[in-house]
Amino acid sequence: MSEKGPREHETVVIIGSGPAAWTAAIYAARAELDPLVYEGAGSRTMIPGGQLMFTTEVENYPGFKDGITGQELMMEMRAQAERFGTRIVTDDIGEVVFDRRPFVLRPRRGGEVTADAVIVATGANAKWLDVPNEERLAQSGGGVSACAVCDGALPHFREQVLAVVGGGDSAMEDALYLTKFAKEVVVIHRRDELRASKIMQERAIESGKIRFAWNKVVSEVIGDDVIEGLRLRDTVTGEESELQVGGLFVAIGHEPNTEFLGGQLELKDNGYIEMPVAWRTMTSVPGVFACGDVMDDYYRQAVSAAGTGCMAALDAERWLAHGGVDAEVPAEEPAGV
Ligand code: NAP
Repeated sequence: MSEKGPREHETVVIIGSGPAAWTAAIYAARAELDPLVYEGAGSRTMIPGGQLMFTTEVENYPGFKDGITGQELMMEMRAQAERFGTRIVTDDIGEVVFDRRPFVLRPRRGGEVTADAVIVATGANAKWLDVPNEERLAQSGGGVSACAVCDGALPHFREQVLAVVGGGDSAMEDALYLTKFAKEVVVIHRRDELRASKIMQERAIESGKIRFAWNKVVSEVIGDDVIEGLRLRDTVTGEESELQVGGLFVAIGHEPNTEFLGGQLELKDNGYIEMPVAWRTMTSVPGVFACGDVMDDYYRQAVSAAGTGCMAALDAERWLAHGGVDAEVPAEEPAGV
């Protein structure tokens, strides 16, 4: 095994490779905890680096006044973690054992490792429609996105007719946000009744710039290099139609990546990791910490994920310093630096 590879036993293992994971790694490495990161092996819908790898320009991450691409931001964070000695394995953790100490982590390809502390930062995946051309145009920056706050202000979406798919609070919030830039926003919903809260519905209806396409699903995204329109199917009559748009924002929910945990951490009803103590990153299992979108169903921003990554590393460091397995981080004291 190379010096840079996993050892049989690790002090801190971080699972994930988005802003939360890399920030946790930077802090853990600088605290000389010698962290090992499992960055994931990638799949059809997710690659190491997480959701930001699917975002083109990131204009709201502080420190980059002219913006930075999502991929560059992730590569910079990864390199920064490596600079302080973080070891990185391109593999998924397929299974964990959290009911014994040290914890056991079983990668899909490599050998099993044990760890004193684990930081779970596996993020969430935006749900996609899974229709022709959607994935390609999302990855190429061709006008398809699952994050209005990240991408909506980009120049090519300005003064365009923009479509938002979904009928929940996220869709209403995205549609309202996009009204700042768009000529018109069309919310496409598969039923004739919204799931969104009353207040969000009212705001959307009152905005004057949002139109609703009821009982419609997108069956195809039309466009070669950039989106030109959508093929729609009526869910009641089956009738097909086309809508010319300059952008598509998919807002049909997110799925936290928690399957590999095998039910060993408490989850909230919506599948996100339960955080028993407010403003702390410990989970239901002492010694296992969580940060980023896998525990955050509310803010879901790169910068907030990075913030909680920092908190998780500090919480882990403090927990280990206080005796690890025999101690818990006191909830009433600040984590300290
Ligand atoms: P959500 O409430 O689960 O809504 C998802 C929407 O997408 C639903 O309207 C659903 O249609 C539709 N949908 C799902 N799969 C689809 C598909 N394959 N094709 C077409 N449409 C599809 O998700 P969310 O809006 O992301 O909200 C998640 C949670 O965060 C909610 O609890 C929400 O209240 C909260 N949230 C709150 C705020 C806020 O208060 N400002 C903002 C954002 C999110 P159906 O209705 O037919 O199922």
